[in-house]
Amino acid sequence: MFPFSHLPRTLLTHLPTPIEPLSGLSKHMGGPSILVKRDDLTSLAMGGNKTRKLEFLLADAVEQGADTVITSGGSQSNHCRLTAAAATRLGLKCELVFGGEQRVDMPNGNLFLDQLFGATVHWSEPELRNETVKKVAISLRTKGRTPYVIPIGGSNGIGAVGYVAAMFEFQEQLASTGQEVDHIIFATSSGGTHVGLQLGARLTGFQGQILGLSIDQTKTGEFPPKLADVANETAERLQVNEQFEPDDFTMNTDYLGSGYGVVGDLERETITLAARCDGLLVGPVYTGRALGGLIDLIRRGTFHQDETVLFWHTGGVPALFAYVNEVSV
Ligand SMILES: *Cc1c(COP(=O)(O)O)cnc(C)c1O
Repeated sequence: MFPFSHLPRTLLTHLPTPIEPLSGLSKHMGGPSILVKRDDLTSLAMGGNKTRKLEFLLADAVEQGADTVITSGGSQSNHCRLTAAAATRLGLKCELVFGGEQRVDMPNGNLFLDQLFGATVHWSEPELRNETVKKVAISLRTKGRTPYVIPIGGSNGIGAVGYVAAMFEFQEQLASTGQEVDHIIFATSSGGTHVGLQLGARLTGFQGQILGLSIDQTKTGEFPPKLADVANETAERLQVNEQFEPDDFTMNTDYLGSGYGVVGDLERETITLAARCDGLLVGPVYTGRALGGLIDLIRRGTFHQDETVLFWHTGGVPALFAYVNEVSV
């Protein structure tokens, strides 16, 4: 059982998410055994990893008396789509700040869903995104509203608790089926998922490897210290005596391709392979890239034949519909 049930949480999805074998892909690759944890099936608004974080973030927003949530991302952000949907469920308004050019063509994928959930959308130069968020918050306050700002990807010491809880859920599933997992592999970007899994692993005694496949972050610079900072912040929130250093996080940065949101051969081939081996959908930005990285690591003989590798599916499938031309084979 998750021992932090005193923390405010709004239930947004049915848990646990299933663990399934990717038998077709395992066979295609000639081993090892590959499992998938289906966090693309969190039940709110087409699923994804942000729902687990939003259960804790939105509970905090409500507790603080907010009437509006503000968050930001790219125009196909899954985090923005799920924040818009979750806010609606709780009777909160939602304002989204997108970095980049306003899309003049028909909105599609996540952007279409944001509009459907009634979110107010703002566009900003990517470098000015945080400033725009602050401006939107100030302007709402002058109108008498009470905004609550959620950082990009929901990755702070509150959101990451969702993935600490996910690790407890996962360990219970393994215990009840007698399964063992040697490596957990997933897409990492703003870091909250990685932080939560790593802290959860310490608290539950998970012995396997936790390997984040980077979508857009490098091993040098501010990102590894940010992971440690958010992990320490999360540990403090949970009142557990755990300390983290940047080196506590294992990350692979070999699959950055041509940058964030750019579909290349790796993503295209992976999306098609997953669909045709197991009827599994992965997204163009995160999970297509991370599963592609995992497949490449298998080809390079990184894992022993008798090991079990688990791909933690973090969602992103609705973005497929915004990338039809790039993904089509
Ligand atoms: C946000 C996101 C991720 C990355 O999770 P972080 O906690 O931001 O590192 C991975 N996959 C999908 C589909 C996402 O939307």
